[in-house]
Amino acid sequence: MLKFHNTLSGQLEEFQPLNNKDVRLYICGPTVWSYAHIGNFRTFTFGDVLRRYLKYKGYNLTHVMNLTDVDDRIINEAKKAGKVIDEFTAPFVEAFWEDSDALGNERPEIAPRATEHIAEMIQIIEKLLENGHAYESEGSIYYRISAFADYGKLSKINFQGNISGASGRVDTDKYDKENANDFALWKLVNENEPTGWDASFGRGRPGWHIECSAMAMKYLGETFDIHAGGVDLKFPHHENEIAQSEGATAKLFAKIWLHSEHLKVEGETMSKSLGNYYTFRDLIEKGYTASAIRYLLLSVPYHKQLNFTFETLDGAENTIARLRDFRNRLSEANPKDGINPDLQEKAKNYLADFESAMDDNLNTSQALAALHNLVREVNTALAHEIVCTEDRSLILYIIDKFDSVLNIFGEVKEEMLDAEIEKLIEERQEARHNRDFARSDEIRDLLAEKGIVLEDTKNGVRWKRK
Ligand code: AMP
Ligand code: ZN
Repeated sequence: MLKFHNTLSGQLEEFQPLNNKDVRLYICGPTVWSYAHIGNFRTFTFGDVLRRYLKYKGYNLTHVMNLTDVDDRIINEAKKAGKVIDEFTAPFVEAFWEDSDALGNERPEIAPRATEHIAEMIQIIEKLLENGHAYESEGSIYYRISAFADYGKLSKINFQGNISGASGRVDTDKYDKENANDFALWKLVNENEPTGWDASFGRGRPGWHIECSAMAMKYLGETFDIHAGGVDLKFPHHENEIAQSEGATAKLFAKIWLHSEHLKVEGETMSKSLGNYYTFRDLIEKGYTASAIRYLLLSVPYHKQLNFTFETLDGAENTIARLRDFRNRLSEANPKDGINPDLQEKAKNYLADFESAMDDNLNTSQALAALHNLVREVNTALAHEIVCTEDRSLILYIIDKFDSVLNIFGEVKEEMLDAEIEKLIEERQEARHNRDFARSDEIRDLLAEKGIVLEDTKNGVRWKRK
């Protein structure tokens, strides 16, 4: 039974989708102003494992992950670079998908961009202005948190003392807002600024939080199953998403909220000034493999902090190499026919361990332990020559099941061995000799499918790999 720790309820809860087997999931995506760092990828790889395990459990998944392609930082950086924002963000969008693919993260079903959903954001803001949850001040539009009684329900921060009520202005010298915690939905943009959109309430650009409310509700409906992101987004970003969405619809926004803890480097927060800031690309350039980075990211459950060190990454490289070597040895072993019931039962138990680890709020570290236990068991059995053909099939099947979620073994190489190829070529020659052209064509096609090209020469048949 799948359970998640829901930040909203503060409890470990049994997962029950709103609509039978359909699961609707929203994960806050990257801000595409630079290359994503390995901390960001910890969160996105957690998102990938979440999506893969939901599919593993047989759910039909719709997963939305936005791209934040407009915010103050992007506007400033684009200005510095003398570019319009789309031109500035394009290479980072491309790099993000490249890195994400390399890390073995599946792409979400829908990846909307903020700049393509301004109309939806404007609609929500209009609704909030109409029903008194938002107000205008000096050309910008703010969310009035005093109008939303549940404000703070996600982050469990008590705002009672801070909320002065809709009528009383606080700190008027410093803020053009009614309350210091009110936040911008729409920021006034002057006519001469290049990045701006026209709305019934004036030209401007959206605040960051409204982007996610608009894109989540557009693709997943007003109420959906799971909303996830890094722990730093809990407040204010996710608290504000709830206030905006529920303020507009008066319905529950997301049922379950999941937050992944941060990645630290050698015990410290990653920062450029400390010189411990690494993008995925930095690590690849240092010669590390994407699979080892993925393994390291999965080695600690998502809700615990992960301490990144080069020592553990070196360890992950070794582990990945050992796991792959194990699978190759098992595939290439020459077991005797039959079945070893004891080994079959043990292997099935390790699969059950894997599932109960993942069911327990996606405990990837326990799930990896189940995999290592299976490998240890089978290695011993191989040494004692007690692995039979049917056991091998079962174990390879179980490894594939593990890997459909973990994705650390890499592609199975289905390359044909030279001897196999030559045998088929001989068979083809014989078929031709017997004028069995159907068979000879069949063999040629089979080889072509495996990337083997044949060339008929006067000295016989030559072949090469494409
Ligand atoms: P951003 O591109 O800044 O919007 O962040 C993308 C995602 O990465 C968000 O879900 C953040 O919470 C997450 N994130 C940022 N820094 C870290 C970190 N050091 N460890 C884990 N996740 C992080
Ligand atoms: Zn978001």
